[in-house]
Amino acid sequence: MTGFAGHTGIEVTVTKRFKFSAAHHLPGVENCERVHGHTFYVEVGVTGEPDPVSGMVVDFEDIRSAWQHVEPLLDHQDLNEALGGRLWWETRESADAPPTTELVAVYLLRHFRAFVPATHVRLWEGDNNSAIAKVAGRELAV
Ligand SMILES: [Zn+2]
Repeated sequence: MTGFAGHTGIEVTVTKRFKFSAAHHLPGVENCERVHGHTFYVEVGVTGEPDPVSGMVVDFEDIRSAWQHVEPLLDHQDLNEALGGRLWWETRESADAPPTTELVAVYLLRHFRAFVPATHVRLWEGDNNSAIAKVAGRELAV
């Protein structure tokens, strides 16, 4: 019997979600200059074809394990201090890069990719605002 994704060209996106609370401030950005806090939701996605033996794209436990490595750095922290020097932004020195939702999403995607073949990270800042960092060339599953 056939029917695995590899035979059909179908990919599956698996996602797992985490939550953390943190403070930050964005120098020079009106309404964000003073220290304030958010509840952040992190959605990690792995897109691929299910393994022909396990039927899985990725083991959820591997994603959870990767999260546990980074959670203490973020949860109940001041992101300007906690991520100082860790954020990547090509136009500025990383020590000066502000912890925007965009740059933290990029940081998290790079972190997760050290553990699992993550293809996107969607970082929600509160209920309504999010940034999606994804591996170039990959479509985001809705
Ligand atoms: Zn903010």
